[in-house]
Amino acid sequence: MRIAVIGGGIGGLSAALHLLKAGLDVHVYEQSPRIGEIGAGIQISPNASRLLIRLGLKGALDRVGVRPAAVNQRRWDDGRTLQRAPVGPEVEATFGAPYYHFHRGDLAELLGAAVPTERLHVGHKLIGLEQKGEKVVARFENGASAEVDLLVGADGIRSRVRHLAFGPEKPRFTGCVAWRGLVPAERIKHLGIEIASHNWMGPDGHVVHYWVASGRFMNVVCVTEHGAWTDESWITKGDVAEALARYKEWHPTVRGLIQAFPETFVWALHDRLPLPRWSDGHVTLLGDACHPMLPFMAQGAAQSIEDGATLASLLKAMPDDIPGALRRYETLRKPRATRLQEASAANRVRFHLHDGPEQQKRDAAMANSGDRSIANIGWLYRHDAAAVA
Ligand SMILES: Cc1cc2nc3c(=O)[nH]c(=O)nc-3n(C[C@H](O)[C@H](O)[C@H](O)COP(=O)(O)OP(=O)(O)OC[C@H]3O[C@@H](n4cnc5c(N)ncnc54)[C@H](O)[C@@H]3O)c2cc1C
Repeated sequence: MRIAVIGGGIGGLSAALHLLKAGLDVHVYEQSPRIGEIGAGIQISPNASRLLIRLGLKGALDRVGVRPAAVNQRRWDDGRTLQRAPVGPEVEATFGAPYYHFHRGDLAELLGAAVPTERLHVGHKLIGLEQKGEKVVARFENGASAEVDLLVGADGIRSRVRHLAFGPEKPRFTGCVAWRGLVPAERIKHLGIEIASHNWMGPDGHVVHYWVASGRFMNVVCVTEHGAWTDESWITKGDVAEALARYKEWHPTVRGLIQAFPETFVWALHDRLPLPRWSDGHVTLLGDACHPMLPFMAQGAAQSIEDGATLASLLKAMPDDIPGALRRYETLRKPRATRLQEASAANRVRFHLHDGPEQQKRDAAMANSGDRSIANIGWLYRHDAAAVA
C-alpha cells in the first residue's frame, strides 16, 4: 500500500511515523522548503506523548521537553490560585507517559529527523488531486506528481486536500486573537516562575504561559476577545505596547511577562464547522484539516497525533479494504475530536468571564474538584488511540 501524507506539520509527521511503523510505504509532501514550526510553545499530554514514545522518541522528547509540575488556574488580578492540578510524576505514574512542554520547532525537528530523508519531500505544495478507481494522483506546484493507494490530508486548517475533496468552505474567525511572546529566561528571573503551566483567567481574556526549550524560554500566549479580523494574514507582527495596554489592570506577573517580550506576534484564531465526513474514497484527512479547534484544551496537535496512530493501526489490520478502514477511522476518531472541539469552545466562555456570579460559580467548581484533576481528566489522558483501533 502506497500512501502520500500531505503536510509535514506535527500531525503529518507523526502519522507518517505511525504508518512506517505499521510497515506501510509512506511519503510526506510538505509545501515549505524545510520542516519547521513557528516560534511558540506546545503542550503535549500523556494521551499523545505515549504514542510518540512508542515510536522510539523518548530520548529525543526528554532532551528538549520540559516536564511541568502542575497546571495552575489563577485569577487575573490578585493572582490567587483557584485550582492546582498535578501533571508531574503523579500523572506519569497514572497514565504511563509524561506531560511535556516543547518549543514547536524542537518537536517538529525531532519528528522530521525520525522520518527517513528519502520519504520526506519538502518544497512540494499540493495543488490538485484526482481519484481514478482505487488510485489517487496528487499533483504538486513544482510539476511533480505521485500515484498512491491512499492520500492523507494533514495540511492544516486551510487544507487544500479538504477543499479539493469536499469543496470550498472558509475557516471562521472565532473572535479571539492570541498575542504570542517567547521570553528568554534571563529577562524574567526576577519573577521566579515555577516550572508549571499557568492559566490566568479574567474579563474577556486569559493568559497561558509555560517554560519551553529545556527552560531557556517562557512561552506566553495572551488571548483576548477581538471582534472582527480583516487582516489577510493569520499571523502578523504585533505591538508589545498594545498587548500591554490590553492587560492594563492584570497582575504584575502577567504584565511583567508581556513587558519582557522581545517581540510579539498576533495570531488570529480560526475554526471550522464540523465536517459530516472525513473521507472520500481513498482520500482522508487528519488533524486541523478535519477538526480544527480553539487551543483552550491544548489538544489540537495531540488529537492529530492520535488520528495518525488510529489510522495506522486500522490500515495495518485491514490492508485490503482501505475505504472500510477509513470508515472505521472516522467512527473511532470523530466523537472524541468533536468532544474536544466543544470542550475547547466551552473553555473560551469559562476562561473569559467577567467578575460576578458566573465567575464565582466557576471558581467554586474549580476549588471543589477541578476539571484538570487526575480523576476528571482520565477520559482524555488514558485514551490509547492505537489500541482502540
Ligand atoms: C495559540 C495556539 C496554541 C496551541 N497550543 C496547543 C497545545 O498546547 N497543545 C496542542 O496539542 N495543540 C495546540 N494547538 C493546536 C495545534 O497547534 C494544532 O492543532 C496542530 O499544529 C495541528 O497540526 P496539523 O499537523 O494538523 O496542522 P499544521 O500544524 O497546520 O500543519 C500543516 C502542514 O501542512 C503544510 N501544508 C499546508 N498546505 C499544504 C499543501 N497544499 N501542500 C503541502 N503541504 C501543505 C503546512 O505548511 C504545514 O506544515 C495550539 C494552537 C494555537 C493557535
